[in-house]
Amino acid sequence: MKKIILFVMISVFVLPLQAQSKATNTSPRIIILATGGTIAGSGESATKAAYTAGKVPIDDLLNAVPQIHAYGKISGEQIAQIGSQDMNIVTWLKLSKRINEIFKNNEADAIVVTHGTDTQEETAYFLDLTVVSDKPVVLVGAMRPSTAMSQDGNRNLLDAVMVAASPKSQGKGVIVAMDEKIYDARDVTKTSTTNLETFQSRNFGPIGLIYDGKVNYYYQSVRNPSKKFDITKLSSLPQVEIVYGYADASPNPVYCMINSGPKGIVYAGMGNGNFGEPVGKALAEAAKKGILVCRSGRAGSGRITLENEVKDAELGFVVADDLNPQKARVLLMLSLTETSDRTKIQENFFEY
Ligand code: GLU
Repeated sequence: MKKIILFVMISVFVLPLQAQSKATNTSPRIIILATGGTIAGSGESATKAAYTAGKVPIDDLLNAVPQIHAYGKISGEQIAQIGSQDMNIVTWLKLSKRINEIFKNNEADAIVVTHGTDTQEETAYFLDLTVVSDKPVVLVGAMRPSTAMSQDGNRNLLDAVMVAASPKSQGKGVIVAMDEKIYDARDVTKTSTTNLETFQSRNFGPIGLIYDGKVNYYYQSVRNPSKKFDITKLSSLPQVEIVYGYADASPNPVYCMINSGPKGIVYAGMGNGNFGEPVGKALAEAAKKGILVCRSGRAGSGRITLENEVKDAELGFVVADDLNPQKARVLLMLSLTETSDRTKIQENFFEY
């Protein structure tokens, strides 16, 4: 019995203190910005799947992984406490502005953002397009809530802090660290509703790996232009909607969208961004009315190419290149804050 009590005391008090004591004056300053999600999710049982996302506050998350203090001087801030299905443009702007402020004021050397996995890829890409710094910004989440058996959040958080602390992570743009892999924000996407290994970069694979306390990079995206979108004075973004393509689709959703007054429509087309005739006619009408129409695809990988089966120039469309519909929407919204010129926006899709 005495042995058990001693073991518990060592595990609870001594080991965390040892880990915490490793940070030195030269250790990187890392701020963890929490937004909620499953990594902060809490369920009633360790074995059942049901839980509520975004319940556990940042201080409890940090206390649960004392080992992170070995990698830097860690502090936390709560930006939001939501399941990422409720992520929105106001919170994106708040998050991006705070990150830019932190780097501008030299408050930290790196940032980790905890986030739900549902829309993590969109937030990552939004930050990638709006954060002006070479310093690491690492997004992380979890597929199992913090109260579940074999939960993945604690390990993912530790790995994300390691990635943020690594000098190798400088100049990589915004990255996502999940399940022992590092992904470029532009390419990563959630591919499974419930599997731990949900994140993938279907066109290009992960850019790095995390294992046994080591961070290794293998590739780097060249789609990381130094010119970012300036959101300093913005409190909203232009309305851009997404419409899904399928066999024998009715054009009604497109006409409903046109009537709601968007500045852009992303079409998640079949194959190489294709549509049946009625939808094509409705999209062409949208473009004639000055709505920026962008063809993306529902296939899950590959590029949408100009003038393949669709006369893009004649119809006034742009293509998303290899961005999936939800990321094409992010780039289109930001592009529309600067211009409504179709040629310039097409250039953005080939550059960013
Ligand atoms: N829907 C929740 C969210 O995105 C749970 C998904 C997750 O975090 O894994 O926040």
